[in-house]
Amino acid sequence: MKSFNFKSPKSSKEAVKIFSNRSTFLAGGMSLLPAVKLRLAAYSDLINIKKIKSLSGIKISSKSLKIGSTTTHAEVANSKDIKKSIPSLAALAEGIGDPQVRNRGTIGGSIANNDPAADYPSACLALNAIIHTNKRKIQADKFFKGMFETELKKGELIEAIEFEVPEKSSYAKFPNPASRYAVVGVYVAKLKKEVRVAITGASSCVFRSKELESILSNNFSSLSIDNANISSDGFNSDIHASAEYRAHIIKVMAKKAVSNC
Ligand SMILES: Cc1cc2nc3c(=O)[nH]c(=O)nc-3n(C[C@H](O)[C@H](O)[C@H](O)COP(=O)(O)OP(=O)(O)OC[C@H]3O[C@@H](n4cnc5c(N)ncnc54)[C@H](O)[C@@H]3O)c2cc1C
Repeated sequence: MKSFNFKSPKSSKEAVKIFSNRSTFLAGGMSLLPAVKLRLAAYSDLINIKKIKSLSGIKISSKSLKIGSTTTHAEVANSKDIKKSIPSLAALAEGIGDPQVRNRGTIGGSIANNDPAADYPSACLALNAIIHTNKRKIQADKFFKGMFETELKKGELIEAIEFEVPEKSSYAKFPNPASRYAVVGVYVAKLKKEVRVAITGASSCVFRSKELESILSNNFSSLSIDNANISSDGFNSDIHASAEYRAHIIKVMAKKAVSNC
């Protein structure tokens, strides 16, 4: 049996203040609790951040969309404002896991966890997001560092994620039929100044495809992707798909995403 000191602070300041070497933040618990149950992680203090009102909610301006870290996937999927300003982000949230996961899991928990097959990290990279923490603002390009590894320091709390509103964007995922995690997911965004393409599921960490970005910057059409040369070097090869198959599916998903933009 596992026992914890369960703490429910009312503000970010308090959450950070009570954090110690034995603590971790608990948001939806969808990734953390299975990890603890499987004894992949052990903590004596769980700091529940779901009661902190300032961490939840959606704010929209003409240029950006800011989502509080404890906002659930279901809230993102169902937000009329998000459907209007960045419909691809609402659709991405709607495709995460199952209704239970969407109603408990949070955007902040998803990106802090940085699972190599998670969906939101690709949105952060493609939509040039800024991660707001209690200490600083971190560009998405610097945030995702490796498998389950981010730029966050111990006890640093994500407060919100701010996305650039694109001219057009779309996310296409080839999901694992059981978990709905991405075998491969491709997020394409045409921003005011650049085209960004982020890929999840294929490698140990989400990454931007310079090859696809360069092709689409010259000609933003699905046909132009036929000329892309996607190398499978370093890609995951597992029971779900070989590295070569993932490289192939990236092209297929990229074409689908651009067609749906
Ligand atoms: C059956 C199943 C299917 C799933 N399918 C998908 C899928 O298709 N696509 C997908 O992307 N994901 C999927 N997930 C993962 C899901 O999206 C989780 O919600 C997400 O990975 C973690 O979010 P959480 O709020 O539950 O975080 P938690 O599990 O509470 O926390 C995860 C980690 O993040 C840290 N953390 C949480 N919030 C913060 C914060 N604000 N600041 C700093 N650190 C923080 C915690 O300390 C912990 O280390 C699935 C999960 C399950 C169980």
